[in-house]
Amino acid sequence: MTDRRKLYFFYEEQNKALLERMQPIYRILEEKGFTILNEPKNANAIISVGEDGTFLQALRKTGFRDDCLYAGVSITDETSFYCDFHIDQAEKAIEEITNTEIEVRKYPLIHVTVDHDTSFYCLNEFSLRSSLIKTFAVDVYIDDLHFETFRGDGLVVSTPTGSTAYNKSLHGAVIDPMLPCYQVSELASLNNNSYRTLGSPFLLSGNRALTLKIVQNDNDYPVMGMDNEALSIKHVDQIVIRLSEKGIKTVKLKNNSFWEKVQRTFL
Ligand code: NAP
Repeated sequence: MTDRRKLYFFYEEQNKALLERMQPIYRILEEKGFTILNEPKNANAIISVGEDGTFLQALRKTGFRDDCLYAGVSITDETSFYCDFHIDQAEKAIEEITNTEIEVRKYPLIHVTVDHDTSFYCLNEFSLRSSLIKTFAVDVYIDDLHFETFRGDGLVVSTPTGSTAYNKSLHGAVIDPMLPCYQVSELASLNNNSYRTLGSPFLLSGNRALTLKIVQNDNDYPVMGMDNEALSIKHVDQIVIRLSEKGIKTVKLKNNSFWEKVQRTFL
């Protein structure tokens, strides 16, 4: 085994009980010649310990790297969408992750640019929501086509793996992560003689750009969400969303395909 596989960074909640639960796992890894790093920069594997929300945070805090492997360890009774391993089966997990014939799968990301300036990635979704008990309006462009003017509570733009999260609560379709696309779903649109939207979620090919131009009025401060984190930009004119060429790498395990997870979770 080469050193390349031996530098691990763990992203976990800093609570005493969890840190204690992790000690035997760190010991086993160190006995096997692994180094547990204090920061993610040179890590070959970044491992979140918690729930799906922790995995989303682990990615964001470590910069959505595409040159390392991400893995999620669940601390609840069940594994989840991004947590393929369970904390009580640490030895098995270590064996799987350190296997030289490991199969890797890639999860798509969306790339979001705000006002030609700030940009970021999302693994689940980008959400744009009114921060007031008041609607706001958005001109929606698909490439250069002015597609619709949305007025309502907001819009959610999700990746295929995010399709089982917020998007699903909005009656969006569950999308196979092997399809290079992203999905747009509405949050309570107004549909009347002044405003009309498609009214159903739609999928865009990964080659298209989605532009959201916020119609400036007296509700100019919608909240923007990058997965489970709010973006604190006060005044926004335009948001451009694309499917990123970059994806994140995770471990592919037997009997744990995306559709097996969907079946396990929802059926
Ligand atoms: P949370 O509000 O505490 O929990 C959201 C729930 O969604 C958790 O049960 C979480 O699983 C689950 N989840 C996260 N990503 C998922 C995925 N890709 N497929 C299926 N389920 C998923 O927030 P959180 O735990 O920090 O997760 C953030 C996500 O919550 C956001 O990215 C968004 O998708 C979702 N969300 C949903 C709604 C809604 O459905 N109305 C509203 C806001 C946000 P775990 O228990 O394993 O963490």
